[in-house]
Amino acid sequence: MFNRRREARDQEELRRAGREMWDYFQSIPSPLEELDQEEAGALAAATAAVPEPDPAEPTVVADFLPPSFVAPSQRETAGLMMPWPGPLVVDGEIVTCSRCETYRDWIVLSTQGRVWLRCRAGHETHETRLDTAWFNRNSGPMTEEHGSYEDGIRFLGH
Ligand SMILES: [Zn+2]
Repeated sequence: MFNRRREARDQEELRRAGREMWDYFQSIPSPLEELDQEEAGALAAATAAVPEPDPAEPTVVADFLPPSFVAPSQRETAGLMMPWPGPLVVDGEIVTCSRCETYRDWIVLSTQGRVWLRCRAGHETHETRLDTAWFNRNSGPMTEEHGSYEDGIRFLGH
């Protein structure tokens, strides 16, 4: 009898201890939740470390690529030129400069579907009787590239 009561009391204590332990485990945060909070904290820190884009900061765009990085097809629209040291005969006539009447030492420029003649004195004339097809038939392969028209004519000796 005594032992039974004691057993019963022990049982009661055990149940209470069990409940307390259960409550204790319920009260502490689960390890998974702690991990999530750490990750969330790390994420928040990483997000805060990323600087906000400054709208006043200029954006670098590809327009500022040096000429050597521009596609050849784009560069060709600037024009092609070739030296023409001797007299230039068009439709059976020797072409002369309308301003200084020279008849040789031309630079022939093909650009945007038109052919221009530039004399030694720097007079430039749109030669309407010549076209891009004529230029391409009479010019050799292009071997030099120049950043500007001025560089090109200087290279050709004008
Ligand atoms: Zn001239």
